[in-house]
Amino acid sequence: MEEQECDLGKSCARSEAAAAAQPAGSPGETPTVAAESPELANYSSKCVFCRIAAHQEPGTELLHCENEDLVCFKDIKPAAPHHYLVVPKKHFENCKYLKKDQIELIENMVTAGKAILERNNFTDFENTRMGFHVSPFCSISHLHLHVLAPADQLSFMSRLVYRVNSYWFITADYLIEKLRT
Ligand SMILES: [Zn+2]
Ligand SMILES: [Zn+2]
Repeated sequence: MEEQECDLGKSCARSEAAAAAQPAGSPGETPTVAAESPELANYSSKCVFCRIAAHQEPGTELLHCENEDLVCFKDIKPAAPHHYLVVPKKHFENCKYLKKDQIELIENMVTAGKAILERNNFTDFENTRMGFHVSPFCSISHLHLHVLAPADQLSFMSRLVYRVNSYWFITADYLIEKLRT
C-alpha cells in the first residue's frame, strides 16, 4: 500500500505542474474530428465557437442561416433587444488575421446579420451596429460578428463596449475598407 503513504502535498504540486504544462483545455482532450474530416481541418474542440459551429454545444440554439459557411446564434449576454453573433465555421483567431481574401467572408457575415434581423422583424439597418472586437479585447478567440439593434437602445456600458471604431471595436464596414487598402 505504498500509494497511501505518498505525500499529498507533493502530488498536488505535481498535478498543478501538469496543468500548467497544458494551459489550453482539459488534459486528455483530443480533437479527433480534425483528423477525420478535411472540411473541418482547423476545427478545435477547445474552441467553444468551433464546437457550436459543429453542433456540439446542444445548449446553444443555432438560428436559421442561409450561408452554409456560417452559423448564427444569440449572444449569451445581450447588449440590445437584438444581439446576434455571426460566426464562420472556419476558425480564424480574430480580425487581425484576415486578409483581402476574406473580404467576401466579412460581406457574407454582414448579409447574414441583416437577414437574421429581417427575420426578427427589424429592418432599420441605419439603426444597427455590426462589428468586431479587436485583439486583445475579444473574449472568444474565434472570429465573430456582433449584430446589435436598435443601436440607439444600447446601454451606457454597451455604448462603450461596442463603441464604433474605438481601439477595441471596429465596424464591419471599417474592417472591409481596411482590408481593401
Ligand atoms: Zn474556433
Ligand atoms: Zn465579441
